[in-house]
Formats: sequence, C-alpha cells, structure tokens
Amino acid sequence: MIHHAIAIDGPGGAGKSTIAKALAKQLSFIYIDTGAMYRSIGLFAARNRVNGKDTAGVAALLPYITLEIRFLDGAQHMFLNGEDVSEAIRTEQASIYASDVSAIPAVRAFLLERQRDFARDNDVIMDGRDIGTVVLPDADLKIFLTASSEARARRRFLEQQAKGLDVSYEEVLEGLRRRDLQDSSRSAAPLKAAEDAVIVDTTECDLEASIALVRKLVKERLHV
Ligand code: C5P
Repeated sequence: MIHHAIAIDGPGGAGKSTIAKALAKQLSFIYIDTGAMYRSIGLFAARNRVNGKDTAGVAALLPYITLEIRFLDGAQHMFLNGEDVSEAIRTEQASIYASDVSAIPAVRAFLLERQRDFARDNDVIMDGRDIGTVVLPDADLKIFLTASSEARARRRFLEQQAKGLDVSYEEVLEGLRRRDLQDSSRSAAPLKAAEDAVIVDTTECDLEASIALVRKLVKERLHV
C-alpha cells in the first residue's frame, strides 16, 4: 500500500504543530512531531549534565536513549526511557538544549531512521525543520510555514502563559531568534525551505484561516 506524506517545516512558533495536529485529525493521518524527539534528547543531556554543544559527550549518551511515541487519547506523547516527558520538554531550557543537540550529526542520524520508519508504515503529517529537505524528500506536499518573529514570539508567549510558565515576552522573543539563527546556520540539515515547498506566511492569519489554507493545499495536491 502506498502511503501519503505531508511535510511541514519552518521556524518555531509559526503554528506548525497546531496546524499539523488539526489536519491529521481531519485526514486521519498520524501526526509526528519531530521537534519533540530533539527536545527529548536535549532533556536527557541536560539531566545528565552534558553540555548540548558537546558533540562527543552527547553522541556517547545516544546508546542510553530509547524514544517511544505513544498515542494517548489521540494525542502524541513522548516517552524517554519509559517516562512520559511530553510536558518536561516544553520549557525554554529544553528548547535551547534541543537546538544545541540538533546540530550534532550523530543525533540527526539517530533520529532519521525512526522518522522514516513512521512514514513507511503510515499516512503521516510530519513537522520539523528538515522534513521536506532531508527526511521525506519525496513527500506528496511540502509546506514551509513561517511568520514574523514578533508574531511567533507572541503566540509562544501566550501558550507558555496559559500553561502557567513564568517567562517574559522578551525572553521568548530572544530565545526564538537565537534558535532561528542557530537552526538556519548549522551545517547539518539546516532550517530551510525545500525547493518544491509551498511557502505559507501566517503573520496576518489567525489559526482557523491558516488551517483552511493548508487544508486547501492538501486537497489540491493529494485529492483527500
Ligand atoms: O519544533 P520544536 O521547537 O519543538 O523543535 C525544537 C528544536 O529541535 C528546534 O529548534 C531545532 O533545533 C530542532 N529540530 C530540528 N529538526 C527537526 C525538528 C526540530 O533540528 N526536524
């Protein structure tokens, strides 16, 4: 059986995961959040007091990491060595660690096969930074979702506030900009739009409009 794959890439806070989740539900596809995998490895490094930029140190941790995705009540939960870390990986510190460890080629190789396995066995919507360029170069539809850094920081900030996390808008904006720069300038699978990606800028769109726009692209391309 041939499976469908939709790749959604873009910087943090552009709405990738919210849009991907909504579409996955509408289409009965599986949503795979690859950022959560990098975040889990970052969390493991932080807990073991290994600097996220320490290439050899982080690579040495990989054999001790088992990552599992389980679907509980229709939502993806990330399990790190058997522990549900879905909440713990969402802090600012985990974001920075994720960006640091994601520049390490051994980490990317570790996750690449796992990500491709999902797409081999399921209809997927996968979001990340390099899905259209590296992980699923043959995806049926590639979307590069973006928005101004202020709009993205505002959304992230509201999200964090709603969760009761104590963080300022300025901190969130600064963190996003730092990660954007680090993610786009690294040599291993940098954040960039695939040549055949459709660029969708959501600065001026609310969530509903963004979902409708992407839904239309899916219909045109995949006829589903
Ligand atoms: O999307 P999210 O903010 O959860 O991703 C966390 C970090 O993981 C990103 O800043 C990026 O450095 C890294 N990442 C990546 N490749 C992916 C997904 C995420 O390098 N496909």
